[in-house]
Amino acid sequence: MSNQTLASVDINFREQKEQSVRLQELRQRAARCRCRYCGNPLTLRKITYAAYDEAKIELYCEHCDRIESGVEPEIYKIAAYYVDEMKYDHYPNLDNSVRKRRMNIALVCDILSWGFKNSGLLAKDGFNVPLQLDEDLMGEAFTISDSYLNSLDKE
Ligand SMILES: [Zn+2]
Repeated sequence: MSNQTLASVDINFREQKEQSVRLQELRQRAARCRCRYCGNPLTLRKITYAAYDEAKIELYCEHCDRIESGVEPEIYKIAAYYVDEMKYDHYPNLDNSVRKRRMNIALVCDILSWGFKNSGLLAKDGFNVPLQLDEDLMGEAFTISDSYLNSLDKE
């Protein structure tokens, strides 16, 4: 995200108070992380909380139109592979849909992130070890069976 874009959402980097540790971390996560639901890049957005009469900068997914904590892109790809190829389904009572697929991927992202963090491999600024991921996992294209595609509801 360019400084110009950030300036358009009222983020002024020359102000010392805006250079907080939190904002620095958010900027780094926005540059690095992806949405846990759709896998798209994240932006920073100033969210106004009327109840607290306060505006806060948050990570945001423009595609899902929601505040997002974000996930490492490698974890998103592993999670998407696990849901699409290994057919993991945490919500068997819900009909197949794009939304359900995203919910499943986000859940697996959370589990994987928890595991990586608690094994000391993942820190606030990303993985602290070089990853050697299977090419199948990292490929942009993945195969989805026709029957699964047909079962997806239109959203
Ligand atoms: Zn999203």
